[in-house]
Amino acid sequence: MTTTADFYHEAARLPADPGAYLLLLDLARGLAVRLPGRRETVLAAGRYLYCGSARGPGGIKARVGRHLRRDKVVRWHIDQLTAAGTVRGAWVFPGGSECALVAGLAHLPMPIPGFGSSDCRVCVSHLLAWPEGAGLAPLLDI
Ligand SMILES: [Zn+2]
Repeated sequence: MTTTADFYHEAARLPADPGAYLLLLDLARGLAVRLPGRRETVLAAGRYLYCGSARGPGGIKARVGRHLRRDKVVRWHIDQLTAAGTVRGAWVFPGGSECALVAGLAHLPMPIPGFGSSDCRVCVSHLLAWPEGAGLAPLLDI
């Protein structure tokens, strides 16, 4: 797994390749999140990382661009956070897999088991909390 990846703050220059991305977002206040068939969980204010993949038309550019837009129909688990919080941008991994990103960040807390990973048999969650003082190695040199 690479330890460098480009970070994008806005959609314009994002690559349209298929691959994976690590979305960085902030919640200014706590947010109650409800996944179908599960108990509501309240996420504390703070920084979160979401590991996603984009393999459809428009690739990473289309998918991350959607996350950067506030105004959207809530369709995926992550939409609850991107609609309520502030998306700072994303590190992108053309050709990568979201589960490999999670594996490289396994030391971080996973506040909601099953979040974004309903179809995944490997990861506990594709959403991670990023507490102050925690690094992102070995995935990234941060
Ligand atoms: Zn996974």
